[in-house]
Amino acid sequence: MVKKKQNPLRIDYHRGIIEGSLLHITNHAGLDEPRLVKIWTVDIQARDSQRYIEFVRRFCQNDEPVSFLHIKRIRKSEERGALTVIICSKHMIEEEDVFLMLMEQAPFEYTAISGEFVVPSKGPSTKDLSLKWSSQYWPLVWRGNPNDQIMNDYVFDLPFIKEILDKISNLANSEEQNGESGPPVVSAFVNPKTRKVVYAADARFRDSPLDHSLMRGIRSVAALEHARKASPDSQEKEETYLCLNFDVYTTHEPCSMCAMALIHSRIKRCIFLQPMKKTGCLESESGDGYCMHNNYALNSKYEVFRWLGSEYPVPHVESEVCC
Ligand SMILES: [Zn+2]
Repeated sequence: MVKKKQNPLRIDYHRGIIEGSLLHITNHAGLDEPRLVKIWTVDIQARDSQRYIEFVRRFCQNDEPVSFLHIKRIRKSEERGALTVIICSKHMIEEEDVFLMLMEQAPFEYTAISGEFVVPSKGPSTKDLSLKWSSQYWPLVWRGNPNDQIMNDYVFDLPFIKEILDKISNLANSEEQNGESGPPVVSAFVNPKTRKVVYAADARFRDSPLDHSLMRGIRSVAALEHARKASPDSQEKEETYLCLNFDVYTTHEPCSMCAMALIHSRIKRCIFLQPMKKTGCLESESGDGYCMHNNYALNSKYEVFRWLGSEYPVPHVESEVCC
């Protein structure tokens, strides 16, 4: 369960706002209607439970894109004395013959192979919903509202966040005055270990049309890491893997290309200032409402927040422009 008292920040769990200024951006659409994932199940005897657990750990855990943390993997079967167990999702194995090949390695007897059961891909937001879904689909484990936990687990260094937002706001405003290299969009990449900050501005008019500020920032982080490794006095230890666990700040809501690139770069969270209703790809009200960072079909995810205050003005960018 959530230990709310441990987090010293003022968190409005209901509206998803931290310290009155950081709005947690999630895919609210259909919150009470689960997205369902098909699963492969078999029936086993209770005495084989341990062998089943070891089998799943060995053959499925690493390749499974669906989290089953909110789901009981074992339930009573309709067959007396037997258990119905989840082997894997159909996102992991779609074809039955591939599934049967996997099951050839099972060190236990099984019957009743089925690909018909479904489970919610994410835990529900309330206990009532958890009970409802448990009887409707498959038994769930209630661990508290997953969103509350996400917000509660976060450490927000607000003075630092404000400093970076102030900086990208200023840089974007001077880009607008001086720069002709692209729309006045600026991003900042913060290394979680060293706290070094890399800033990047859009340069699509000067270089490639794909040189959005976020794409350039990702490239700069990689180039710096490359140079660091090549330098003779660098320690062997790898400092950065892609942008793993970076915090990324940007003046305007990212487009789909950049939002996807942030997923591939394995960042931890993105904080932005200005929503882009037409071209943005994070808010459920932006673009096609895809909520790239929160999309159930994608393996890796990051958290997104929008600054609600007006302390950090950003230059106007035409609504059709992808940022
Ligand atoms: Zn972009």
